[in-house]
This record gives sequence, structure tokens and C-alpha cells, in this order.
Amino acid sequence: MSLRYLLTLLAALVPFGFLGACSSPAGDEAEQDGVLLVYVVVDRLRADLLDRYESAFTGGFVRLRAAGHRWENATVDHAHTATAAGHATAAMGTHPHRHGVVGNDWLEQGEDGSWESVYALRDRGARIVGESGMEGRGPANLVRTGLPDWIEAHDSKARIVSISGKDRAAVAMAGRSRGEVYWMSSSRGRFLTSTYYRNNYPRWVERFHRRRLANSWSDTVWHSTIPHGVESLSRPDTFAFEGDGVNTYFPHRASREADGTDARSLNRWRNRGPYPDQAALDLAREAVRELKLGRRGAIDYLALALSQVDRVGHSYGPFSREQLDNLLRLDRELGSFMEFLDENVGAGRWMLALTADHGVMELPEARRGLGLFGRRVLQQELDAVIARAEATAEAAGTDPLAQARAAAATAREADWVADAFVWDDLIREGPADSLQALYLRSWHPERRLPPVGHLGIGVRLLEGAYAGNERGTGHESPYIYDRHVPFMIMARGLEAGTTTERVSLVDLAPTLAQLLGVPYPDDLDGRSVVRR
Ligand SMILES: [Zn+2]
Repeated sequence: MSLRYLLTLLAALVPFGFLGACSSPAGDEAEQDGVLLVYVVVDRLRADLLDRYESAFTGGFVRLRAAGHRWENATVDHAHTATAAGHATAAMGTHPHRHGVVGNDWLEQGEDGSWESVYALRDRGARIVGESGMEGRGPANLVRTGLPDWIEAHDSKARIVSISGKDRAAVAMAGRSRGEVYWMSSSRGRFLTSTYYRNNYPRWVERFHRRRLANSWSDTVWHSTIPHGVESLSRPDTFAFEGDGVNTYFPHRASREADGTDARSLNRWRNRGPYPDQAALDLAREAVRELKLGRRGAIDYLALALSQVDRVGHSYGPFSREQLDNLLRLDRELGSFMEFLDENVGAGRWMLALTADHGVMELPEARRGLGLFGRRVLQQELDAVIARAEATAEAAGTDPLAQARAAAATAREADWVADAFVWDDLIREGPADSLQALYLRSWHPERRLPPVGHLGIGVRLLEGAYAGNERGTGHESPYIYDRHVPFMIMARGLEAGTTTERVSLVDLAPTLAQLLGVPYPDDLDGRSVVRR
């Protein structure tokens, strides 16, 4: 933080009592009129995309840049950059090795020695309301509290709401709270919740499904809304490594890309376009109105974990025309949502933070077009290396450490593997480089990261390598393209502007707690960045 910014910030905060330990403008005011925190996590929104497309934005991103404060050097500081891990980190202020959600799924060893894949937000004590046969969801695997829990502990009248296009994001952003938590089901085409939170759908959610959901959930053609002259900010629309390899350009039609006679197929098609985010923001409007968020003399919390930048990014990549259109739609939606908050909560009575759970790598083939290293590792190549590592481990005898070291040596032979390490060695000897240090934050003794955690090893691919499908791209690496995320806050009393100081995703939850006047645990990995 520059001295000049620090002085400006202190000057802005002092009149409101920010420097007093637990009193803040929002905190004091909350006792009279209430305040609403809107915590937006845009899945896979790499921070540089906001700069790349800045000239095309007209809505929420522009307002956030003008009226909010932006920390432009913010990173996710764990290695396994997956959705559930990133959202939990944003909510908890600790790294995954401490909050426990180290990935979207992991491997756990049963008493008979076999390995079972466990979904991060699986909750065996819960069921999905209204859906028999679906596995329960809830925070059973989250071993710490987060911002929503701290708010509830401080203010018994607080309301906690979390809405997302993905169950793991909605659940993680709610911490351990039993608030109102809803996620869009791609097969059902409606929002679901679990019995961890409640036993029925409230009337306002059912009414939303009946009357309003169709506004954002009936399209069968995804048209580009990119204005003329702006398209060139993205790469050309047709690229053989996008989507299904055929339908790589606008307009995207359900009649070509889905089975129009099958409701589930249509829902899955919509789930790949901009529609779930629109639906989530529409449901959020209903939540604000029905639950009177921000107007109840309490501190209310609304998490919006918006998933479609991730899904569009998986299929088409960060610089695709599809992603540009999706981001322009999101920008407009966020802008109109902010206007809605002004009208329905009141200007100055809501604050908003925006970040991402992780970034993304450009498609390997498109990287090569930019003169960068790019390597697509097909699933069968990956599977072959894992099989060889398993075989050398078995041949190495019965000592688990010797087995793991043999497996790591085999994995290192692949020319797209940058590092293969033995977890036990890493823990005992400490990290050999800064990337291994990030891996330690993704470590959990009983929750082994796939695909090689069962061998006691971790593998880092080369920068620019992506392992997975024949098309599309992914994340989950410790490289900066997967870790550079937005970190922006718009709140009364917080000076607008930009800070270049290096901050971390773990800092956001305590920072928001500080701004709300909510005490938070003193053993977090993060710290408030608006504190003296
Ligand atoms: Zn994600």
C-alpha cells in the first residue's frame, strides 16, 4: 500500500470511527437501519480480463471501477486452483489446508485400503429438498467458520443468503450457516437447496420458479450482443478447439447443439450459456425484496457466486468471442442489479465486493498462436503416465515412502510434467521453491488430490500445459494465469481508487468483516487490508 493511499484511506475512515477496533460506520449504522453486504464471486474471472475489455463495459464493472477500490495485484495463494477450494477460501479467510476443502473432489482411503472419490460439498446428513436419489449437499467437510458465521455470531438478526449456478459455490459461500442457500440444477432447470438449510422451498422461491424464471430460462438461441467495433477485442469467433469443435460461433442454437425434444438436454444447453447467471441475479432480486435485506436493522449477507464465466471459459477459453459476450452481459446485469439495490435497499446502505475463485489458462493451441508454449495433454496420455507410476510404485516394495518416490520418478519422465513430488518429503523437508509452498496450502492428510494423490505424490504440469479434453481449457495450476483475481470493494467510507500492494484472496473475508464492524478470528491466514 502506498503511503499516499494509506493517508487518503485513513483520512476517509477516521471520521467514521473505522480505526476504533470494532466500530465502523456500517457497524454503528447497522444497529439503526441495517446494511447489506453483496459478496460477488465470479467463477474463473481472471483479473486481466477486466482490463482487456474495459473499453467495452458500460455497466457494473464501470461503476465498480469508478466508485469502488481496486487492489490490482490480488492472487489466490494455493496451488490447486479449483472452484470449491477458491470459494471456501473467499468465505473463510484461510487457505484450503486449514478450511479443509482442498478441491472440488478428493480421494479418501477406506479401512480396506481402497480409495473413494469424495465430492467436496457432499453432506451425508442432508438430502436435496424435493429430490429423492440426489446426494445431499452441505458444509460437512468445511472444518472452519467463515464470514457468514462471524456475521451471525455478531448479529443474531443477520440474514445469510447464498445463490449460485453451482452447488459447491453456493454452499461454500454460506460457511457453516443455515441460511437461505440455493443453486441452479443443470438437469432440473430450477434452483435447489438441501435439508441442511431447510425442509421446503419458501413461497417466494416457488413463485420465482413459476413466474419469473422463464425470463432468463427459455431462450433457445444465444445471440451475440457485442457492439460493432468491439469484436476485435476477442479472438475470431471460429476456432477448432472450442466447444464441440463444430458449433464454435454465434449464434449458438439449441436446435443444433441440443436435443430440443428433451427438457434436460435443453437445460444442459442453457447451462453452458449466460442464462444461469441471469437467473441467479433474478432470484437475488427476489431475495432482497422478500427478505428485506439491508432494511431490517441488521447486517445482512448476500453471496452471489456467478458460474457462467467458468462454464463458457471451459468450452471456449478466456479470449473467445463467447466469453466477451458473456462478460458484457454480466457487466450489464451487475449494473442493473446495483441500480436495483439503490432503489430497493437504498444508496449507501449496501456494499459490494467482487473477486474470483481462480483464473484460467488460454487454450493451448491459442497460446501457441500468441508465441507462448502450449501443450494439450489428452486424457489417455495422462492415464498412461498414472498407470506407469502405479506399476513402478508396486514394484518398489511395500514401504509407502519408497513406493511414492518411485512413482514420482516415473511421473517426472513425461515431458509435460514440470515437477512430481512426494507429499511426505515436501512436508518433512519443506518446499524447494515458491510453487511447492503453494502446494502445501492444498494439502490435507486424509483428502488426497486426484489424479495421483493415492500414490502419495503431487504433479505440476508445465506452464501452458492443460490435461483434459480434446477441446476447451481448464485451471487448477499454481501459475499466475490461474491465480490472478479481481479484488474490488465498493463501500461507503472507502475511498475509490487503485492499490498496487500485493494482497491475497484470504484477505478479503477479514477485510469485509472489518468494514462491517464484525469481529473475526485472530488465527486467519488473511488480514484486513483496510486496517491500520
Ligand atoms: Zn471455478
